[in-house]
Amino acid sequence: MSQETLVKRQFGHRARLALAPAQGLKTDNQAHVARTMWNLLHGWWQMMPKEMRTLANADAAIRQARDDIDFLAALPAQAAQAVLKTYFQTWKNCWEGRADAPSFKGRFRTVMSVDIPQGRDLNITRVHRRWGMVNIPKVGRVRFRWTEDLPVGKRTNPENRITGARLIKDALGWHIAFRVQTLEAAPSPHQGPEVGIDVGVTVPIALSDGETYEHGEWLTQREQAKLLHLERRAAQRKQHRKPGERTSRRLHHTYDRIAGLRAKAKRRALDWQHQTTTAITRAYGTIVVEALTITNMVKSAKGTIENPGKKVAQKSGLNRSVSREAWGRTVTMLTYKTARHGGTLHKVPAPGTSQRCSACGFTTPGSRESQAMFSCKNPDCGWSGNADHNASRNVLHLYRMGLALTPAAGRAGVRRAKRVKPATAR
Ligand SMILES: [Zn+2]
Repeated sequence: MSQETLVKRQFGHRARLALAPAQGLKTDNQAHVARTMWNLLHGWWQMMPKEMRTLANADAAIRQARDDIDFLAALPAQAAQAVLKTYFQTWKNCWEGRADAPSFKGRFRTVMSVDIPQGRDLNITRVHRRWGMVNIPKVGRVRFRWTEDLPVGKRTNPENRITGARLIKDALGWHIAFRVQTLEAAPSPHQGPEVGIDVGVTVPIALSDGETYEHGEWLTQREQAKLLHLERRAAQRKQHRKPGERTSRRLHHTYDRIAGLRAKAKRRALDWQHQTTTAITRAYGTIVVEALTITNMVKSAKGTIENPGKKVAQKSGLNRSVSREAWGRTVTMLTYKTARHGGTLHKVPAPGTSQRCSACGFTTPGSRESQAMFSCKNPDCGWSGNADHNASRNVLHLYRMGLALTPAAGRAGVRRAKRVKPATAR
């Protein structure tokens, strides 16, 4: 028993906050100040000569601004420091080619958020089976929805800690995203079977053993009709707006309701993704997926004027479904969930998986009869079946051939397939 090794795990946990109206206004205000602080900092940066742009100077400027401008004091000092840190990190990311340069943040296009960088400020207690209380600096004690997967409290490892949090406002209101750090027993290697997964065109997720995971529409008929109605009304109101006229209160209200319905659909989609990926990572020890670079796919289908893309319609159809099912997010979930369950995730280069016959191995153009059906053109074979199922079997086949990409190659795009051992025992 004492032989088991402990591993540190860091992850986020998001919960809805039940803010009283006055607390909601205070939190809104903090977010506005945080944005203003960012803009002041960006203005300062652009004004300063290059050699003066240091963290210490920026810090001094922020302190001065907090003394001079009364309303900036609404934001706790720690949160102001977090803005400074994020701003400098954004420049660093930009210089290292990971992100765009920081820019001014507009009032309506910016996600409202406030950072609480230190976990000890939060003072979390559980008050009810379903509710916890958290301390939000300069706002007060606030109730939030407690779920069993928040790994703090009496019954869990005392080493589990919440190292900080971030308040985020979306169309459904204010949420808190805790940064959690836990110490858990390392999972024993998953002995489950191997499986290949395909991004389905006709079904959202198709597995190589014939299993499929499907879902209905995210919004009910009534909600869809409502959304359509609201979108039409917003378009009409926008049309009747004179040039230069401000967006009316009524139009803003319509936009808010549209955003609310979209957020509802997104939340349901996320829920489905979580359930599906948990079920898959529990059942299988080795999971193989296609190494798709989604951003490239969405961009490349159309091509340029000089070099127009081929099969634009088919590709954009696939792209739409890929984006809609948010395949990238599914892979992220699969990655950390396989690690938690002791399994392994592998990526294989994607090209050809939908054209190759998984029964005989022949790749003949035109074998894919339609989006849904695959029938082999090899006269000796003649296999036919669901196209997504065929592709997922090919994905697994590529892994068994030793064509899985090493993690580094997978990140940098499909460089060159390297041979790796089929189960990384460690
Ligand atoms: Zn065949």
